[in-house]
Amino acid sequence: MRNVLSCPFCQPNERVLLENETAYVVMSNPRKVPGHMLVIPKKHYLIPKELSQNEIIDIFNLIFKLEDRLIPELGIGCDIRQNYRPFQKQSNLKIDHIHFHVIPRSFKDYIYNTVEKFETDIFVKLDDLERKSIEKLIKG
Ligand SMILES: [Zn+2]
Repeated sequence: MRNVLSCPFCQPNERVLLENETAYVVMSNPRKVPGHMLVIPKKHYLIPKELSQNEIIDIFNLIFKLEDRLIPELGIGCDIRQNYRPFQKQSNLKIDHIHFHVIPRSFKDYIYNTVEKFETDIFVKLDDLERKSIEKLIKG
């Protein structure tokens, strides 16, 4: 486990825009689009499933509040992402302390035009063998 003293998300500062008992909101810096926000649990977790039910509720309450305020002004929709990538080293673009991205989106916006329009080739039609294999993993 990382030393929480060196974790930038363990020390919320004047950048905090909204908060509740267990989570807070800051603007992502760097950001992908204007209004790109981060919702961060106050407690240091490396694995999403470590979050308590109360923390999950608090996090999603902040996410929904952000959607209410950001979508009418900065987008038509919103992406909510949580990237769990323990295989990547922490850097200025990747912080181990789990967090959720809230990213206002619009039709053919900057993210679409720079990244997503090139992603269409990675989609593969789901076949029965794969469907059954994944279904077995999930259902046990
Ligand atoms: Zn932390």
